Amino acid sequence: MTGYRLHTDNLTVSYGKTTALTGINLDLAPDRIHGLLGRNGAGKTTLMSVLASLRRGQGTVRVEGQDPFENEAIMQNVCLIRESGDLLLDEKLTTNLSFLEDARPRFDRTYAESLMATFRLDPAKKPQALSRGQASAFGAIVGLASRAPLTMFDEVHLGMDAPARQRFYHEVLHDFAEHPRTIVLSSHLISEIAHMLETVTILHEGRLLLSNEADDLHVSGATLTGAAEVVDRHATGQQVVGTQDLGPTRQVTVFGDLDEAALAAAERDGLTVGAVPLQDLFIHLTDTDRAEEAS
Ligand code: ATP
Repeated sequence: MTGYRLHTDNLTVSYGKTTALTGINLDLAPDRIHGLLGRNGAGKTTLMSVLASLRRGQGTVRVEGQDPFENEAIMQNVCLIRESGDLLLDEKLTTNLSFLEDARPRFDRTYAESLMATFRLDPAKKPQALSRGQASAFGAIVGLASRAPLTMFDEVHLGMDAPARQRFYHEVLHDFAEHPRTIVLSSHLISEIAHMLETVTILHEGRLLLSNEADDLHVSGATLTGAAEVVDRHATGQQVVGTQDLGPTRQVTVFGDLDEAALAAAERDGLTVGAVPLQDLFIHLTDTDRAEEAS
């Protein structure tokens, strides 16, 4: 085991009069890929900043059992990659890599250089000369090659195009398999990252909405796919949280503990029954406007 365990107890963080996090009790196991989800302003960046000891709150924060704040031993092994980047702006990318190699005990320079080639980044360029997508890719490279026991990616892939994002997801999974550590991924592109997540933590308006095994979440509902009229018949009376039509085929997402007999009947009528997509579940749980409209 090389990754760090994360724990918070009644964590509250404020910026002046704005309370960004309220009473967060969280326990994230080491050596897993955790998803941290939430709508804009939910508190995700604030939580990661506290875990990276960039900010302090009230309550308890423990990274591998220790208070991370101004804790050198922990800080050098915690890597928070933000879209804005934390780089030496006047130095070439290769010099930035040398700096990181000195600062990060587990930094793998050879891996960093192979990723530079994969993402087609010129090591002689300086950070200001990078496009938004290239800057995102460099952030991803830093996060991956640091191999920090706690690595957090805060929307780092937002600026990347679709092929670059796929490459990033592939690298995260591949490198995690060879070098297990604790990875926290925060993203609004939920459907793209859902397959990578082992646990899902959702913040909503500064509070912890849930923190569960991803597999447990997938069974808190189902998708029914098939001929529209047959789907509608079986969805009647269920809590429908998403509908998609593709020609005559309809897929609805229903939420809640579903009756096994009802699902078996749907399959007998030719419908395909699948797991609930995380994105639909997320929208259902956090779209308060829609919930208010519905009630
Ligand atoms: P997003 O998905 O939009 O990046 P987030 O979930 O990362 O959002 P945070 O950036 O943690 O959310 O912000 C949580 C709350 O704290 C918001 O209400 C935000 O306005 C507030 N906040 C964040 N940073 C500051 C700051 N430096 N000064 C004042 N308020 C802040």
